Amino acid sequence: MLTGITGQDGSYLAEQLLSRNYEVHGLVRRTSSTQRVRLDTLFHDRDVYEKRLFLHYADLDDTTTIRRILLKTEPDELYHLAGQSHVGASFEIPETTCQFTGMGTLKLLEIVRDLAKQPRFLHISSSEIFGRPDAAPQNEHTAMRPVTPYGVAKTFATNMVRLYRDSFGLFACNAICYNHESERRGESFVTRKITKAAAAISLGLQDKLTLGALDGKRDWGYAPDYTDAMWRMLQQPTADDYVLATGAEHSIRDFLDAAFKTVDLDWRDYVEQDPRYMRPSEVTHLMGDASKAKKILDWTATTTLPALAERMVHSDREQQTSSQSHF
Ligand code: GDP
Repeated sequence: MLTGITGQDGSYLAEQLLSRNYEVHGLVRRTSSTQRVRLDTLFHDRDVYEKRLFLHYADLDDTTTIRRILLKTEPDELYHLAGQSHVGASFEIPETTCQFTGMGTLKLLEIVRDLAKQPRFLHISSSEIFGRPDAAPQNEHTAMRPVTPYGVAKTFATNMVRLYRDSFGLFACNAICYNHESERRGESFVTRKITKAAAAISLGLQDKLTLGALDGKRDWGYAPDYTDAMWRMLQQPTADDYVLATGAEHSIRDFLDAAFKTVDLDWRDYVEQDPRYMRPSEVTHLMGDASKAKKILDWTATTTLPALAERMVHSDREQQTSSQSHF
């Protein structure tokens, strides 16, 4: 069972679980639009949709419905990936962010606590819990000092997962994920915004790219690597928390370099800055030490910069070329 199955990570994890012969269930929010682009390929596979992949309507705060679905489906593993995940937006909608990202996790833990057959539980936590840490790289023991509403909500959720593991004996894990990107990344995150723009500019479809602060640095990995680690975490004999990261820090300028180089352009000719995209406060020096995941899960991040940016630009170019040819 996955919450957030329509998101970047949910779609990769669903594919990986199906390829490992799982029956996969997903909780989805009821909206008037039935577009679920990231799951399109699975929907159109007659051997998969409604045979081995099932979707159920439930909002994260609808505990009665979620309980009913979990009682009916009796999942062995529950991956909790849903939540308001945009850090910049969390400054505009802090209550919603805390309601879904923070309380949504507690509500799920409460339901699982009461189940006779308890699934193994994975919560996707975030490097945002570290905020502005004293030391880099960070590991599972680094103090949590969040500096964004999203980070505060994730800190609450991460600690609740630990508490339910320690106090109530739940098999509950935190995957403390550093930024992980892909061709399916939401278009308002900086990486995808950059790769989409590099592709569009190279095809003559766009002139400028407007960004916020360019000084930030991130530890950027490739999303399918991270969902693979999440699965590995639930196959262990004991529940634990793991940092998932590449261990390398790059600036937004580095990402711009890599993306625009893919299409033989210099980003300095196209990028302008607008305070609209700047945040009241920023995390610093987030770089993860994934040595525990390497040792116990036999996991390492495979795709890093510049290959990550190249891959995303190529995919955006293909998408934009094919949507042009439909006109
Ligand atoms: P985050 O690490 O989850 O906040 O990932 P984002 O991709 O949203 O942001 C990464 C960094 O890029 C942050 O330091 C942002 O301030 C910076 N940034 C600069 N311009 C933009 C922009 O236009 N959109 C977003 N989302 N981030 C931007």
